[in-house]
Amino acid sequence: MKKISHDTLRLSEGLTYDDVLLIPQYSDIKSRTEVCIGSDLGDLRFDLPIISSPMDTITESPMAAAMHSCGGLGIIHRYNSIEIQCQHIECLPAEAIVGAAIGTSGDYLERARALAAAGARILCVDVAHGHHILMKEALTALRYAFGSNIHIMAGNVATLEGYNDLVDWGADSVRCNIGGGSICSTRIQTGHGVTGLQTIFDCARSDRNAPIIADGGLRNAGDIVKALAAGADFVMLGSVLAGTDETPGDIINTRKGKYKTYRGMASRDAQIEWRGRTSSVEGIATSVPCKGPVSDVLRTLERGIRSGFSYSGARTLGELQGKAKFLRQTGSGQTESSTHINKR
Ligand code: IMP
Repeated sequence: MKKISHDTLRLSEGLTYDDVLLIPQYSDIKSRTEVCIGSDLGDLRFDLPIISSPMDTITESPMAAAMHSCGGLGIIHRYNSIEIQCQHIECLPAEAIVGAAIGTSGDYLERARALAAAGARILCVDVAHGHHILMKEALTALRYAFGSNIHIMAGNVATLEGYNDLVDWGADSVRCNIGGGSICSTRIQTGHGVTGLQTIFDCARSDRNAPIIADGGLRNAGDIVKALAAGADFVMLGSVLAGTDETPGDIINTRKGKYKTYRGMASRDAQIEWRGRTSSVEGIATSVPCKGPVSDVLRTLERGIRSGFSYSGARTLGELQGKAKFLRQTGSGQTESSTHINKR
């Protein structure tokens, strides 16, 4: 008998953001203010379909507060004590909607109870490989503990099967994409992953309708519009928000200017700091230029997303997903699609 089945050898395709364009369509939208880019996470409505990543160089209380006031959502990272993570929720204005991350082992259930009591409206079960028995056990236990009283986001997954299973195990929304983050080395270290936009195309074929969160690898408003058009309900951002005033961490003064650290949670530095040891290192640490207030970054993205909707003639996310027509572009098309004037 052969060791490898022919099915395994029939390779599927992995498109990502630069491989496609959205084809402009007839539009009767006279002003971009007519466009609504809001999205729903269960019964929670957000004006901006952007979530800040639960990473220790991205989301603590200042980022969560700013995301809320700009219409999006922040998810407080889990790389701290239960008490400190709860304080990041308790210090927010009462009305702010905030999420908080937990794992699938150790103190996760105790942490979940404390975070919910502190006011978290969303629990994010945050692991690298979410299509896993520990996720199944955690989601079962969380549903048993909370019923339907709290929104449970879970991930990450790379496949339609993963998305369907997490929804069937109790997730209300699913983070989709493995290995596509800017600081991620999972695909290099393990050979595993599915390209970011392909993951969204695949998961969006599901007959379940839990919101899809396109997570990792999004670099600009154009990528966000492509992810939403492909079927995502929200995007989750790390690097685009890194270096803003509201991110945790000190400013590093260099001769080239001011920088802040941005690192993967599976990077060597992060693992040493939070666990005192490393297992498989699947991320990197780097520094990024300081960008000023995150509200400036979000407003720029918002304008681009609105403009993107109007190029497809879409007033809402539902219309965008119904109307979107994707074109696959060649390598020379990709060159043409980025600014390409010869620089002196
Ligand atoms: P970015 O927006 O491209 O910078 O990607 C951010 C996303 O990368 C996060 O939301 C996580 O899903 C993912 N991520 C965070 N840390 C790591 C890591 O160390 N390895 C792999 N993926 C990571």
